[in-house]
Amino acid sequence: MALGINELKALFEAHGRRANRALGQNFFIDHALLEQAVETAAFAQMPILEIGPGLGALTEPLLNTGNAVTAVEKDAFLAERLPELLPTERLTVVNGDILKQDIPALVGAEFSAAGNLPYYITTPIVTMLLKLLPDTMLLMTQKEAAARFFARPGDRVYGPVAILTALYYDAKELCELDPAQYWPQPDVRSSVTLLKRKRGAALPAPAGLLRFSDNALAQRRKTLINALGKTEQAHAALEAVGLSPAVRAETLDPETFLALYTAMQG
Ligand code: SAM
Repeated sequence: MALGINELKALFEAHGRRANRALGQNFFIDHALLEQAVETAAFAQMPILEIGPGLGALTEPLLNTGNAVTAVEKDAFLAERLPELLPTERLTVVNGDILKQDIPALVGAEFSAAGNLPYYITTPIVTMLLKLLPDTMLLMTQKEAAARFFARPGDRVYGPVAILTALYYDAKELCELDPAQYWPQPDVRSSVTLLKRKRGAALPAPAGLLRFSDNALAQRRKTLINALGKTEQAHAALEAVGLSPAVRAETLDPETFLALYTAMQG
């Protein structure tokens, strides 16, 4: 199907509708780029969760991998059109808010994720995904949101997303995107990030580490011991890891966060 800009416009017009900017609706029209990105992602054989499929620009290449795709779309009009445009039993369309879904119930525990993410909830979506650890993630986001995956200690956007990404994933930016590759054109620049889960490393379940790093970084100017609550357990953990209580959390690299979190559990 691969709808071009004229077909997209015609479909919206025929139904007396417009792209809904409040829902971050910027549809991608460079289909060759998406095919290439999906090929590079090399999705393993397992269900794929697609976030915000819109009218299927990314859904179609995802289906071409041979995997089952469960696509969660908030806009009922788009959710209704999608199975008409891509009629296959391997596609399940759920009309709803991605942040309100029981994802394991939809796709199981072992799944991959993909999406041209609605910009207004990118960080909550990424955080939700990092708690579930999909095998592969192919994510199109604003460039500022992509920077959160790659941030290092001291960077303004260094936080839980960077910490979990560094520990659990091999991440790389596949390419930058141009506003002219969308309809309607967004005011911002975006990029495509590919994240492949690291296998073999013995790591804790991510939700606790995410909460821990979030709390520790909530007030960036606080010393670590203040951020951790000045407890005996916190003092012992800092000593075990060889950290001064006066250090600031934002200066710790992901591996040190992991060591401290592990010491706090002990
Ligand atoms: N994947 C399509 C593409 O690349 O052309 C559309 C991408 S568009 C940037 C984001 C999509 O996410 C829109 O279809 C929008 O309706 C949908 N969306 C917005 N908020 C959502 C939410 N909370 N849950 C699920 N989908 C949402």
